[in-house]
Amino acid sequence: MDTKKKENKIEAENGIIRVYPDPVLRKKTRELSLEEIKHQTTKKIIKKMTEALFESPNGVGLAAPQIGISKAIFIVPLKVIEMDKKKKEEPEKDNTKVLVFINPRITKASKKKEVLYEGCLSTPNLYGQIKRSRQVTIEALNENGKKITRGAGGLLAEIFQHETDHLNGKLFIDEATDLRKHEPPE
Ligand SMILES: [Zn+2]
Repeated sequence: MDTKKKENKIEAENGIIRVYPDPVLRKKTRELSLEEIKHQTTKKIIKKMTEALFESPNGVGLAAPQIGISKAIFIVPLKVIEMDKKKKEEPEKDNTKVLVFINPRITKASKKKEVLYEGCLSTPNLYGQIKRSRQVTIEALNENGKKITRGAGGLLAEIFQHETDHLNGKLFIDEATDLRKHEPPE
């Protein structure tokens, strides 16, 4: 997902990130076994995803299909999690760490929804409004195969919903209204 609000900045071209209508973005991803999670291949995928995410100036989450890998993995920068926890605006100093969610499942989603302005690294410069649950609980495995359960509201809840959708071949543009293209300035 990307957080760029209404400013009209040029989106950095990132060769690794697959963009719409790449068919890999529409495939339902495959879950990983514990053995697979601990394998070197998965570590390499996570490393590649982390690099791709941090090369994207507005990125706040990335799912494996966005680098062409149809596996149920997404990552969120640690700074976003910290922001949510401390309810503060300032990002953390450590900008290079991520939290890893493997085989994630949203187990609870509040009926209360809000309309949010959203973007996606795979639909560059395209933004729109989408209804998301205000609060969600997510269950997943981390990069060590350990089960994690996390409740979230605000931006983090939005990211969890957006990234879980990616793993099911869904894009925010499917449901967003008022889709607008923000053209880079000449
Ligand atoms: Zn996205």
